[in-house]
Amino acid sequence: MNAPTISFDNTQIAFQSLSNFELKKAHFLFQVFQNQFLVKVGSSFTESALHWGLPIGPLVKPTIFKHFCSGENLEESTTLIRALAQKNVGVLLNYGVEAKETDEEYEKSIQQSLKAIRLAGTEKNIKAVCIKLTGFGRIALFEKLQQKASLSASEQTEVDKINARFDILCEAALSNDVAIYIDAEESWIQNPIDEMTLIRMKKYNQKKAIICNTYQLYRSDKLADLRSEIELAKKENFILGVKIVRGAYVEKEAEYATDHKIKSPIHSTKAGSDADFNEALQLCIDHIDSVSVCVASHNEESCLLLTKLLADKNIPFNHPHICVSQLYGMGDHITYNLLSLGLNCTKYMPYGPIKEVIPYLIRRAQENGSVNGQMGRELKLLKTEIQRRRI
Ligand SMILES: Cc1cc2nc3c(=O)[nH]c(=O)nc-3n(C[C@H](O)[C@H](O)[C@H](O)COP(=O)(O)OP(=O)(O)OC[C@H]3O[C@@H](n4cnc5c(N)ncnc54)[C@H](O)[C@@H]3O)c2cc1C
Repeated sequence: MNAPTISFDNTQIAFQSLSNFELKKAHFLFQVFQNQFLVKVGSSFTESALHWGLPIGPLVKPTIFKHFCSGENLEESTTLIRALAQKNVGVLLNYGVEAKETDEEYEKSIQQSLKAIRLAGTEKNIKAVCIKLTGFGRIALFEKLQQKASLSASEQTEVDKINARFDILCEAALSNDVAIYIDAEESWIQNPIDEMTLIRMKKYNQKKAIICNTYQLYRSDKLADLRSEIELAKKENFILGVKIVRGAYVEKEAEYATDHKIKSPIHSTKAGSDADFNEALQLCIDHIDSVSVCVASHNEESCLLLTKLLADKNIPFNHPHICVSQLYGMGDHITYNLLSLGLNCTKYMPYGPIKEVIPYLIRRAQENGSVNGQMGRELKLLKTEIQRRRI
């Protein structure tokens, strides 16, 4: 099969899902994000307002929240999920609430994830429910597990609870025929997350990938891990569920390495991360019978590489073991152009109470604020489409 010609510059395809009003609103938002001063002031204003319990909802909800999140709860999100289903776009649902510390909060997270899994049982374009294992147990405990430190009896009980919570979700996912994607976190807590997840992959991924782990290819050790886990999956006859990402914590990892006087596990250059990401992609495609892969990236070159690898190997673009994903509210030029070629395309879609998803929204506004970053590219494309529509 010849590699198809694809241009991520086709803005008519890219923004087909946006009305004129939505297009202009997105353009305005991305223009604001380009102004680093406004983003800085806006972020600290929002954080202070949250701290003082001021009502920020009326300002945030119709603007940045609506652009990047599907709703404050699942009921509110269903309209958007169905609208995407009409366009054949899948959804990776994420209850966007971050790091908690009490049993009550962990139980709430579990209940939310269970509700999302059940919804996926009926809304078939929800391809996966994404979770962070640190949503179900204390970060300090994960750190202790990573260090293989001995645990007190009460800490062991906490670990047992995390495992029990994880198992409840796995069983629900299996019976609703939906995948669970485990997000990758910081390197100093990632080992226990990997270990807990691999155990469940062996158990639940007999016929298809119900449990999928995330491999951060900005880490210089992750390509080797992926390679050896593919071998393991072949040997032990299960499907390895893989989400490949570059990795979200570059600065945090560098700070941690400096503070702890250790060598950073992150590649020293972006080119290093790019090379490993693309090699991981190739590896997954080479072993597509044993691997189910989600290519989670806004990098156009990597997405093009995916189409080339599939064409070279004569693998159908809609192969059930392959999907791509971009964050909801970003990367539509990639999602919809790949969709037009027949790939399984999904949007990573957070939902949750406004005050809980604020850290996620602030990160979206802050990252790539520079003209050369992702937002600069998005802004240019939005402008082109506004001109094309003459609005
Ligand atoms: C659907 C989805 C799910 C995601 N899930 C997770 C997750 O579970 N865990 C997680 O950590 N991240 C996750 N991410 C974020 C992801 O890791 C990246 O931060 C983000 O997608 C940007 O990378 P990119 O592939 O889109 O491409 P690009 O924009 O081309 O690459 C940017 C990335 O390159 C790497 N990089 C940049 N500068 C350097 C440098 N100097 N040295 C080394 N590497 C560098 C960083 O990883 C940076 O994020 C997810 C992203 C998506 C779209």
